[in-house]
Amino acid sequence: MSNDCLFCRIAAGEIPSEIVAEGEGWLAFRDIQPQAPVHLLVIPREHVESAAELDSVPALGGELLQAVARVATQEGLHDEGFRVVTNVGERAGQSVMHLHFHVLGGRRMHWPPG
Ligand code: AMP
Repeated sequence: MSNDCLFCRIAAGEIPSEIVAEGEGWLAFRDIQPQAPVHLLVIPREHVESAAELDSVPALGGELLQAVARVATQEGLHDEGFRVVTNVGERAGQSVMHLHFHVLGGRRMHWPPG
């Protein structure tokens, strides 16, 4: 765990969050500034900077995507559809340098993203 990482501190319970589901290696909580009626973040408990590092962390990517599918179903998004986004690096819009998948749903999505 990194003491100066916001999401490590959320995972450790040091900073409050609205957790909706959790597993051994991950947790899902509501984004503090939701961009859709449902906006969750799925993060690993261990500190991994971004999806660019997943190649060197065996099995974690699959576990997190399974968690994404689980929480999307739990939030009632399975049939209506949803969007999964992970920003990698500041240039792509990543503001918290701890891997997270955004799960967005509850409204129509547009493409291409900005
Ligand atoms: P990104 O910009 O892709 O790195 O996404 C970071 C996300 O974390 C943003 O959507 C923020 O609104 C969200 N966020 C920042 N601080 C918190 C917090 N304390 N609890 C929940 N979500 C947060």
